[in-house]
Amino acid sequence: MNIHEYQSKEVLRSYGVNVPAGKPAFSVDEAVAAAKELGTPVCVVKAQIHAGGRGKAGGVKVAKSLDEVKKYASEILGKVLVTHQTGPEGKKVGRLLIEAGSNIKKEYYLSFVVDRGSAKVVMMGSEEGGMDIEEVAAKTPEKIFKEYIDPAIGLAPFQAQRMAYNMNFPQEVIRKASTMMIQLYNAFVGEDCSLAEINPLVETAEGDVIALDAKLNFDDSALFRHPNIEAYRDETEEDPKELWAAREHLNYVNLGGDVACMVNGAGLAMATVDILKFHGGNPANFLDVGGDSEPEKIAKAFEIMLDGGQSKGIFVNIFGGINRCDNIANGILKAAEILAKEKGTDGMPVPVLVRLEGTKAQEGREILKSSPIKNVFMTPNMDEGAKKIVELVNQAKA
Ligand code: ADP
Ligand code: MG
Repeated sequence: MNIHEYQSKEVLRSYGVNVPAGKPAFSVDEAVAAAKELGTPVCVVKAQIHAGGRGKAGGVKVAKSLDEVKKYASEILGKVLVTHQTGPEGKKVGRLLIEAGSNIKKEYYLSFVVDRGSAKVVMMGSEEGGMDIEEVAAKTPEKIFKEYIDPAIGLAPFQAQRMAYNMNFPQEVIRKASTMMIQLYNAFVGEDCSLAEINPLVETAEGDVIALDAKLNFDDSALFRHPNIEAYRDETEEDPKELWAAREHLNYVNLGGDVACMVNGAGLAMATVDILKFHGGNPANFLDVGGDSEPEKIAKAFEIMLDGGQSKGIFVNIFGGINRCDNIANGILKAAEILAKEKGTDGMPVPVLVRLEGTKAQEGREILKSSPIKNVFMTPNMDEGAKKIVELVNQAKA
């Protein structure tokens, strides 16, 4: 799960991390009131969206008076911001962060991620902050330093100090910088983060070290133990289909294409996405129905996949283990019934190709074969099935 910058800063502040004073604002009036309350000579008006690169896209503005705060707030609120992280459709700004302006001397980069290779949290730092770190990694990788953190020991002070020296912090602020690294690591572990990125981490002219931007991502599987983080969820930033699927306890990820797939098991679901791609298809989603095969749930999955006309065909790829192919077949029939009622279609509105293997596969196939339902086809195996559904979708588009 992703949260906004102002929320990340609230979390970090509770771990002692030095962040600028600031307040969120949902309207221009609130923005002006927040700036008045801050009372600093310089304020920064920052668009709050779940994406970075806002500065370059005009979503971060320095205001030197309340009039400027008003001007920038009205310009940015409601605007669709297109940054290199939003995709071409951009994201609409619904909230702002009004924060105290910092007197920046130098911008650094610092982040923490879980490194799968070493099964440790890795801290990465560079003195090339503020700009795209991807560019630094590509052009001057020697300027990015790493510290692998032993989970049993935590971030050792010597590692934090070594990083601060590697990042070329001046002597006077080494201690402040390394202390902040330890506070950030504590926040990362304490809140079950999957990513914490401070870009830029700044050194100010007054000799302070401040986290000027903050991006935190959280491990969804650990959210149950962080109701405080769950409460930060901003549904307007999330894919409506994914939210709907989550409410139905379905593991669904929208992939933007037009060949939908419904699979049991995450591994098979990924393999299915791969094989659709291999045959030239454009997967609409990843969907793992797991061990669940109650017809009502399968029907719900169909409704979600077909919603909004995104999917031009559906590949059902089931290897029955705990779930049963006869239940899946009944679910498909139930879905067709619901859709027929809702949309007045005769059978499935798009071609559905079904591969059933494993528990009660024969029974499942019989159920589908003996039903008069239209637009549902069987396939003997996964490869054939993927090829066929891509063909059918391409025909439908032609
Ligand atoms: P993004 O990464 O989405 O572009 P940032 O929060 O990093 O957004 O802001 C972009 C730039 O704006 C920063 O690199 C910094 O130079 C400037 N900036 C951001 N917040 C402040 C602040 N509170 N005071 C002064 N400058 C700021
Ligand atoms: Mg940034």
